[in-house]
Amino acid sequence: MASDQTTDQAEAAMPDWSAYRGVLIVVEQRDGVAKKVSWQLLGEGKKLAAKLDAPLMALVIGEGVAHLADEAVHYGADRVFLCEAPELRTYRTRPYSRVCLKLIEEAKPEIVLFGATATGRDLAGAIATHLPTGLTADTTQLDVEPPPSRLLLASRPAFSEKMMATILCKQYRPQMATARAGVFQALPKDTERQGEIVAIEAAMREEEIAAQVLDFLHETGKLNLEDAEIIVAGGRGLGGPEPFALLAELAEALGGVVGASRAAVDAGWIGHEHQVGQTGATVRPKLYFAIGISGAVQHTVGMSHADVVVAINKDEKAPIFQFAHYGMVGDLFKLVPAITQEVKNRRT
Ligand code: FAD
Repeated sequence: MASDQTTDQAEAAMPDWSAYRGVLIVVEQRDGVAKKVSWQLLGEGKKLAAKLDAPLMALVIGEGVAHLADEAVHYGADRVFLCEAPELRTYRTRPYSRVCLKLIEEAKPEIVLFGATATGRDLAGAIATHLPTGLTADTTQLDVEPPPSRLLLASRPAFSEKMMATILCKQYRPQMATARAGVFQALPKDTERQGEIVAIEAAMREEEIAAQVLDFLHETGKLNLEDAEIIVAGGRGLGGPEPFALLAELAEALGGVVGASRAAVDAGWIGHEHQVGQTGATVRPKLYFAIGISGAVQHTVGMSHADVVVAINKDEKAPIFQFAHYGMVGDLFKLVPAITQEVKNRRT
């Protein structure tokens, strides 16, 4: 009885958030190209907005990025706020967070979502601290409680990835979360789709911004697993670092990149940036080769959304075959060079 009373009192003390409505996705771009995670978040945001019977909004910030506002509509946004200014050409925490804070104050979204990228994490953290409100980082599942509570249910792995925790933000608005790339699915791009585009003012001067961007040093050959369309991944079955050269050759012939299981990474055969899975990257390529990988759940959570999975394993009972569209039972040292040769033959 006492605990019921406590709950009732807590509910009664809930602030009135009725002025806050809608789901806002903060679109991330560099050099006028959007990160795929932004469109994936619009796909997921659409479902949340439908359950809340609220609009799906997007915010595009930069210079010369009006085409991204149109693209956001094509990927599902009902209303896009577009903020363009020379000061916003490249990402800097202070000016970008100022634009977001002003828009949140005026548009009052109940949910704000960002990609869990280096930029998204920095921006979301700055905004949450300033408002202040709660921020759930690196979510892998999003849902909402239907009205009247309208609470965001932001879930993420917790306790060394052994269980899922669902985190609620009851006392503050907006409710904010970052989400990993490749977890959610973008809607098919509909270039006929119409939406509202609202230009908003940046209202800042360069002299007010302490940080200056002097130059960008582009890292050559930097691996981008999350955006890769073809991944050739290897595991403990490779037996050592050298056979990864076989996988690199196949990946190069296909125009893809090399991935790995944690077993291969932990053995020191390849860098962690190649790791796919629960504690690595979540990927959504068109084609995924799983070579000498058994198919542990911690690996498959990171790749099971691939359009086509090809598994190569000498053990016909390996769990990876349950996820594979095409399975080859045999020795990877014979099969991989043969496939690479076949791909090269077809290219010439
Ligand atoms: P194994 O399970 O040892 O499989 C090797 C496979 O190679 C076998 O199926 C074998 O039949 C096959 N093979 C051997 N020789 C050949 C050959 N010559 N030709 C063809 N096939 C051959 N794992 C991840 O991958 N990513 C993660 O992010 C991740 N996060 C984790 C987080 C936590 C908290 C924990 C506890 C574990 C995590 N793991 C992760 C580890 C995971 O549980 C597995 O241990 C790991 O995925 C196994 O890697 P593997 O499939 O390469 O190795």
